[in-house]
Amino acid sequence: MIVRKSPSELETMAVTGRLIAEVHELLRDALQPGMSTRDLDRIAEEEIRARGATPSFKGYRGFPGSLCTSVNEQIVHGIPSDDVVLAAGDLIKIDAGSIVDGYHSDSAVTWIVGGDDTVAPAVADLVQRTREALWAGLLEARAGNRVTDISAAVEAVAQPHGYGVVREYVGHGVGRALHEDPQVPNYGRPGRGPKLVPGLVLAVEPMFNLGTADTAVLDDDWTVVTADGQVSAHWEHTVAITEDGPWVLTARSDEPAYPLTDLDRVPGRAAVDAREVG
Ligand code: MG
Ligand code: MG
Repeated sequence: MIVRKSPSELETMAVTGRLIAEVHELLRDALQPGMSTRDLDRIAEEEIRARGATPSFKGYRGFPGSLCTSVNEQIVHGIPSDDVVLAAGDLIKIDAGSIVDGYHSDSAVTWIVGGDDTVAPAVADLVQRTREALWAGLLEARAGNRVTDISAAVEAVAQPHGYGVVREYVGHGVGRALHEDPQVPNYGRPGRGPKLVPGLVLAVEPMFNLGTADTAVLDDDWTVVTADGQVSAHWEHTVAITEDGPWVLTARSDEPAYPLTDLDRVPGRAAVDAREVG
């Protein structure tokens, strides 16, 4: 069942969205080599609770963390651990959500520990292009489109580069439940699936792999990894469909939020342009 949110519900979702954006900014600024993924989890949980909200993921189907922290070949759903210590050149995917007045937010980032220069250009490009695919998808989150207009826009960014587009895990509706209908795949022909209508709130979340799209799940029954062990990138925002265009509820302060009209404003684009020209 697809749930449309009222204007006042959207205002609440903007509050929980802004909260998780600021948690991501805090984690981004704190991130450095030598930290464990459990350190990140602790910072996030303290901040979320200090603001009177609740971590969306903690206890979700028994998940032990407030964040999902997935490193390198791990795609999503990694469990924060004192034993996973980050080093320069690691890709850390941080997925976070918060509940405010019963409404969830859901947003993920991929940071390169130590910066772009610590990885091969192909890895930095994967991270940036996955981020671009997110924004390409968000731009299609407008009334009158259908769900797979988002999917096709996301997939189109991956295709020229031969990235594996993860198929087993997809975007979704967000609201009183963390995962609502409809599903939002990162692949497919445009013009299909449910119509996008004002009040619909979606999590758009491309997962691109440097190698094969195939995935596996580790023995902890949570951590999803690439089948071939190559690295993966994941970016996610929660977006509301409005009469006036996409409203990115989880946009950080260096990202456009509303109304979303210009892909050129997405940070990081210049770096890939420079590599593509050079
Ligand atoms: Mg998420
Ligand atoms: Mg999600």
